[in-house]
Amino acid sequence: MKKSLMFKSVLSAAIIASLAGCATQPEQEWNADETYKLTILHTNDHHGRFWQNKYGEYGMAARKTLIDQIRADVEAEGGSVLLLSGGDINTGVPESDLQDAEPDFKGMSMIGYDAMALGNHEFDNPLEVLFKQKEWANFPMLSANIYDKKTGERLFDAYHMFDKQGIKIAVIGLTTEDTAKIGNPEYIGGIEFRDPKVEAKKLIAELKETEKPDLIFAVTHMGHYENGQRGVNAPGDVALARYLNEGDLDMIVGGHSQEPVCMEGPNVVKKNFKPSDECKPDIQNGTWIVQAYEWGKYVGRADYESKMAS
Ligand SMILES: [Zn+2]
Repeated sequence: MKKSLMFKSVLSAAIIASLAGCATQPEQEWNADETYKLTILHTNDHHGRFWQNKYGEYGMAARKTLIDQIRADVEAEGGSVLLLSGGDINTGVPESDLQDAEPDFKGMSMIGYDAMALGNHEFDNPLEVLFKQKEWANFPMLSANIYDKKTGERLFDAYHMFDKQGIKIAVIGLTTEDTAKIGNPEYIGGIEFRDPKVEAKKLIAELKETEKPDLIFAVTHMGHYENGQRGVNAPGDVALARYLNEGDLDMIVGGHSQEPVCMEGPNVVKKNFKPSDECKPDIQNGTWIVQAYEWGKYVGRADYESKMAS
């Protein structure tokens, strides 16, 4: 007997997307007669916008209100929430920059983020600042492809395991190789940004042996490029999904290209997406790809529901 997880994605609270995909999972420790609901909420490219703008838009207080409401709704229906960030918390406005993004990381902790990917802008400051931010954050900062050149060891946790009502979820972190080019050279001389595609493939194979997760998500800061056409940028989420075995990743929660990833059709991005429009995420090689614009303007939402399958 197998269980499958149905997937629906919604970008921002106001939008209902009708989407159905199936990720067949091996039977694990969940009760086959019960329906399980898992909601993934996500943001990316926060860039210091902890405060609302001059028009009273966005800001972390509004974000918390929205996320608290969604959490209450999901929990009332017996579901669980996983809240992820695609990284680039740092750099954007002086009120954050001058405080080393302390309000931003503490605010994310209070909102209840479960994990984030390290973005290139996390390397704009001396590494001491980043390690101080790691202390302010009560959630893991993940990247599987950032290595210390001297020791050959990873500088951050590669992944984190979550257990939501018996559903075992692995979340792996990945960071664009372009960080080596666009990060502050003063601070990243001792760091190696390895190919995230290669690191992901290796790590997923390991996790399938060791942790045996029901779902594997990647939280990435690599960018979404339409049909993988990346120009001068390093390979992004589309290239990642295509490089892996089909469906190896259930979903990529991305960042870096700072757009709402909503598709018109296969490999064609919907232009001029507006809130209340339907948003169909990209799907590549059996992997859903989502991204929620920038600055906390939107909160992305994806709903999984378990369902009996024969
Ligand atoms: Zn970025």
